[in-house]
Amino acid sequence: MKSNLEIAQEADLQPIDDIASSLGLLPEEVEPYGRYKAKITLSVLERLSDRPEGKVICVAGVTPTKAGEGKTTTAVGLTQGLGHIGKNPVLCLREPSLGPVFGMKGGAAGGGYTQVVPMEDLNLHFTGDIHAISAANNLLAAMLDASILHGNVHKIDALQVSWRRAVDINDRALRQITIAQGGRANGYPRETGFDITAASEVMAITAVARDLQDLRRRLGAITVAHSFDGGKPVTAEDLGAAGAMAVLLKDAIKPNLIQTLEGQPCLMHCGPFANIAHGNSSLIADLMGMRLGDYVITESGFGSDMGMEKFFDIVCRVGGLVPSAVVVVCTIRALKHHAGLEDPNADRPLARAALETGANNMRRHIAIVKEFGLPCVVAINRRPGDTNEEVEIARRLALEFGADGAEVNEGYERGGEGAAALARAVVEAAEKPSNFGLIYRDEDPIIDKISAVARRVYGASDVYLYPEAEKKVAQYTRDGLGNLPICMAKTQYSLSADPQLLNAPENFTLPVRDIRAYTGAGWLVPLCGDIMQMPGLGKTPAAFDVDLEADGRIVGLF
Ligand code: ADP
Ligand code: MG
Repeated sequence: MKSNLEIAQEADLQPIDDIASSLGLLPEEVEPYGRYKAKITLSVLERLSDRPEGKVICVAGVTPTKAGEGKTTTAVGLTQGLGHIGKNPVLCLREPSLGPVFGMKGGAAGGGYTQVVPMEDLNLHFTGDIHAISAANNLLAAMLDASILHGNVHKIDALQVSWRRAVDINDRALRQITIAQGGRANGYPRETGFDITAASEVMAITAVARDLQDLRRRLGAITVAHSFDGGKPVTAEDLGAAGAMAVLLKDAIKPNLIQTLEGQPCLMHCGPFANIAHGNSSLIADLMGMRLGDYVITESGFGSDMGMEKFFDIVCRVGGLVPSAVVVVCTIRALKHHAGLEDPNADRPLARAALETGANNMRRHIAIVKEFGLPCVVAINRRPGDTNEEVEIARRLALEFGADGAEVNEGYERGGEGAAALARAVVEAAEKPSNFGLIYRDEDPIIDKISAVARRVYGASDVYLYPEAEKKVAQYTRDGLGNLPICMAKTQYSLSADPQLLNAPENFTLPVRDIRAYTGAGWLVPLCGDIMQMPGLGKTPAAFDVDLEADGRIVGLF
C-alpha cells in the first residue's frame, strides 16, 4: 500500500470555497488561506443560531500503546463513511503540533485512505494558530519580566513565578533554564523554562473559549505568579497583557476548514494537551460543526478515561453540549499489548488467548462510556496482519461487554466505503435514548470530584492526597476556586496512575501529588504522576526522514 503522504499528495482536492459553500457558509464568512484552507468567522454561530443542532459523536479509544490506535484515522473514516451513506457530517480534529510531527509519533491527519488534506500544510504551521498562541504566551512572559525589572509594582516574588515560555518544538534543553543573565540591563536572573505550546494555558484557553470576549476575559484571569507580600495571585490582567494577547489571537480563535480525502468538511482547530488541558479540539469548532452538519465527529485524545472524560466533564459542561454517542477505537495490537503480548508473529492459540485477556481493557472503556449514560459503538480499527478470526473475536466480545454496536473499520485501506458499516452503527446508536450525565457537580467539594473520577472512571478503590495536595484543596476552596471542574493529569498508558499497570487494573489507589490552578482556562489540575510539558527528541527523530525532493515535493511526513 502507498504511504500516507503519497496518498495525500495524489488526492484531488476541491477548492475550499466549494467545501464552504456546500456547508451553506456565506462568502463573507470564509477567509481563505491559500486554495485549500480557510478560516471561518465566528459570526456564523449567530447567523445559524436557530438551526437544529447536529448530533455530537465523540471518538475515544481504549488505553493506547505508544504508536496510537487510530482514533484520528477512525474519526476521519467515520466521517467519510457517513458521507458515503448520504449523511452530512462535520469532523472536528485537533491541529498537529510540530513536536510529534518531527518527534516520534508523526502528524495527526489520519492514515491510508482516511485522511484530511492538505496533509503537508496542516502538519507544518498550517494557518499559524500555534505560533500565534506561542507569541501570546511569550508576550505575557516578557511583560512579566519587564514588570519585575521596572520597579515590580505587583510585588512579584521571582521565586514564585509559575508562567513559563512556550515553543512548538520538542526541545528538552529548554525545560529548565536561567534567563536574564548578563547584568542589570537584562533584568533579574531567575530559573524558568519552556513548555511545548500545546501544553500552554493559552492553548487551553483558546480551545475552551466561547467567543472573543470570553477569550479576552480568560486570558486576563491567568495566574502568572504570586506576590512576596502574602502570596497574592498576580494575573495577566494585573500585568496589562490580556488585551494585547487577545489581539494576537484574533485569527487563531477562528476554526480552520479543510477536507477529508472524500470531500467532507473538517474543522481543525487548537491542539491542547490531554493532561493539563482537555485534549480535544476547540469548543467553538464543535459549536460551529453542530450548526453546519447533521453529525459532528469529534476526536478526544488518549483513552476514554482521559480525553473523553475531559470532553464531557469540561468541554460539554462549559459549552452545554449533550453528545449522542461514543465510538471507542480499539486495535487487536492494543488488546494483545494489554495481555503482555508484543510479538505480532506469536502462534495462533497464544495470540487468541492474549486477545481475550486484553479485551478486558476494552470492557472497561465500554463501561466508562456507559457511566456517562451514552450509547457506545466499538470500532475495531483493522491493521495489516489482523486475521478475520481476531477481528471477529474482538467484535463479539465488544457486544458481550455491553457495546451497543461493534464494527470493523476498514477505512484505512478502503476509504469511506470501508467505514460504512461503522457509520451505520453510529447512526443507529445515536438514535437510542440516552441519559447523559456528568461525573460530578460544580458545587461538589474538590476532593469529591477527584474521587468521583478516580472511582467511577478509572476504577480506583481509593484516592490518596499527598500533604501538598491537601494544602491546595484547602487553599483553593478558601480562594473561591472550589467550583471549578477538574482536569486530571495522569498517564495515558494505564487506567491507573502507574503506566506499568496495563489492561484492567483493580484495587489500586490513585495518588495525587499536588494540584495546580489554571485560573484562565478555568479548571484545577490534580497531578497524578509525572507530567511531561516539554518532550524531547529521540536518537532517530522523524525529522531525519523529512526532506525536499528536487521538484520541491515533501517526503518523509507520516
Ligand atoms: P491516534 O489518533 O489514536 O493517536 P492515529 O489515527 O493518529 O492514532 O494513528 C496512528 C498511526 O497509525 C498513524 O501513523 C496512522 O497512519 C496509523 N494507522 C492508523 N490506523 C491504521 C490502520 N488501520 N492500518 C495501518 N496503519 C494505521
Ligand atoms: Mg489522534
